[in-house]
Amino acid sequence: MNAQAASSLDTFTSVNAGPIIMMGAPGAGKGTQSKAIVERYGIPQISTGDLLRDNVVRGTELGQKAKAIMDRGDLVPDPLMFEMMTVRLKGEDCCRGFILDGFPRTVAQAQWLDNLLKDKFFDKVCSIPPVVVSISVDYNGLLQRLTGRRSCPTCGRIYNVHFQPPKVSGVCDADGSALQLRRDDTEEVIKERLHAYEAMTLPVKEYFRAAGRLVEIDGDRPVDQVTRDVLRAIDRHGNRL
Ligand code: AMP
Repeated sequence: MNAQAASSLDTFTSVNAGPIIMMGAPGAGKGTQSKAIVERYGIPQISTGDLLRDNVVRGTELGQKAKAIMDRGDLVPDPLMFEMMTVRLKGEDCCRGFILDGFPRTVAQAQWLDNLLKDKFFDKVCSIPPVVVSISVDYNGLLQRLTGRRSCPTCGRIYNVHFQPPKVSGVCDADGSALQLRRDDTEEVIKERLHAYEAMTLPVKEYFRAAGRLVEIDGDRPVDQVTRDVLRAIDRHGNRL
């Protein structure tokens, strides 16, 4: 299949999609774009933020250790992240590939991931080279996106009170649940998260750029245009289609 001929509505749920890493500051649209990739390739989206929040809600040992760190907007220590990711990535559903959303966030995490993917378990997944999709959005745009973000606790749908409001204020269009503001989406914590992103994650981008794996996408455009470019970039990289 010629990638140019594939439309953003086509699905390819039996191809080996390989590892796909989504990068971008909080609020850049990684989650939204990841959902489009899930639909196209039928591979799981692994959001480290979601995994950690789930651990916090369930009150696991990891959740108890991570809660205060996440509330401050700091990064959870690598040993905890590595333990959680090893278990998740060796899940049966990752055998054709997976989308990482929120990981790696440091060069140490990127190097750890490269090593983990050398494990025999990942032979099939890694026959396709990992691709890193980086979505960029300007700082003020990010602040507006994050302070306006609301999510549905039932179906996970994400809204924005400024750009993508629900039909009825505060209520999910799909299932009528009351929409929630994430506890770390307050302006003070957001600034801390953007700062942590700048300081620690930009070197990761350089790491992947040097390895020739980075594809940069302008995220300051309507969602469907960004989706089109993201899917095209993934399809082309490593001749997935
Ligand atoms: P996110 O939903 O991706 O914005 O993540 C929410 C919070 O989870 C972050 O502010 C961190 O405290 C923590 N977190 C998520 N991913 C990582 C990671 N790769 N390394 C360290 N901490 C993380």
